[in-house]
Amino acid sequence: MIKQLVFAAILLLTLLILGYSFYRIYRFFKLTRPAFNIKNHGQRFNQLMTVAFGQSKIFRWPFTGLMHALVFWGFLVITIGSLEMVIDGLAGTHRALGLLGPVYNVIIGSGDVFAAIVLIAILIFLARRLVMNIRRFKGVELKKQSKLDAILALTLIFLLMVSLLGMNMAYVGLYENKAWFEGVYPVSNWLNGLFLCNLSGNQLHLLHEVSWWAHILLIFIFANVLPYSKHFHVFTSLPNVYLSRLTPVGKMNTMEDVKTEVEMMMNPESAQEPPTEELPGFGIHDAEHITWKNYLDSLSCTQCGRCTSVCPANQTGKKLSPRKIMVDTRARMKERGPQLLKEGKEANDGKMLINSFVTEEELWACTTCNACVIECPININQPELILEMRRYLVLEQAKAPGELSTMLTNIENNGAPWQYSPEDRMKWSEELYMNA
Ligand code: SF4
Ligand code: SF4
Repeated sequence: MIKQLVFAAILLLTLLILGYSFYRIYRFFKLTRPAFNIKNHGQRFNQLMTVAFGQSKIFRWPFTGLMHALVFWGFLVITIGSLEMVIDGLAGTHRALGLLGPVYNVIIGSGDVFAAIVLIAILIFLARRLVMNIRRFKGVELKKQSKLDAILALTLIFLLMVSLLGMNMAYVGLYENKAWFEGVYPVSNWLNGLFLCNLSGNQLHLLHEVSWWAHILLIFIFANVLPYSKHFHVFTSLPNVYLSRLTPVGKMNTMEDVKTEVEMMMNPESAQEPPTEELPGFGIHDAEHITWKNYLDSLSCTQCGRCTSVCPANQTGKKLSPRKIMVDTRARMKERGPQLLKEGKEANDGKMLINSFVTEEELWACTTCNACVIECPININQPELILEMRRYLVLEQAKAPGELSTMLTNIENNGAPWQYSPEDRMKWSEELYMNA
């Protein structure tokens, strides 16, 4: 009974802290602009199954892709075992989901195998980060904190798998011959025979208790670290894939207000009524102008760098890194959000997302090829933010690179990108007629 009370108190504390962290992020979401109405649920579900659960994009990198996919699938299965631990902790039961019979054997058996696979994968990931010199893990946007985050998360997952296997090994050693023994443990059975065969019943019991508590406490700690680390994608990546764009890659969002203005200019009779309210301003220049989807994208970014590694601008030495755009957006909201909540829209810290975080040079380096979107394993839309920031520069600040400014002026004056009046457009052909 004491164990149950202690467990219930720790669980309550965990949920309260986690609830606070989510509430804090929810308030930041409330500062953002609307994005789109969520519909086409069938299509979205297919996208979720293929890209998220099927991990379809990650396999473009065969070895690390497979490792990541195995870790993801392993987590899904192991989470069911963690839920069982919560039930056992509260109810004082032993392997409460054992009543599922053969289904339980499949879940627990595959969880046991996945624990070993995840353990090996994490060791490989740690070696790649600490020993190997991998370009994808470098970049100005990857601050020391981000690197520490990655090491901390990998270490926590490593310890989670060690404690899970420790618990399973001790369980097998203690209760294998009892009538109420539940589940199958292919890996732990084997490891138990290798390492624990000489332990007494008391020692096995101690190992089981220590591993059980270590595992569940690590889960609670990990869950509460996530909202403050780059690994928040553990919570957000599935919803992010579900809510990702369904329109073709590269399709730009129409600026309805501008469209109405142009329609009025081109064809005053067919145009709709112009908006009577004052226009809200064009594009994005700070955290409060992004949409909720832009913010969800930034929270979901795993900082894996796959986007940057295929970005033609980055690969040809330009400053642009699509990963940096996502990292900067999240960082700016983390800084700007509390100011806005405290002081309202008038809050001014002398900084903006543009210039203080993302430079104009980075923005204009984008070719809008959308290779980053295609590569991103969780369907983040990086160019949308880039384009919206450019829209702010052009439409609000009249700032564009020289060649572009000339072209825009020509379009405005001549209806074409060239510096000739429309009346002179066919002059080039006159000589041809003369010589014909
Ligand atoms: S769309 Fe822009 S940011 Fe994305 S890969 Fe192409 S150039 Fe890079
Ligand atoms: S935007 Fe996507 S591909 Fe790029 S670092 Fe983030 S998760 Fe990886």
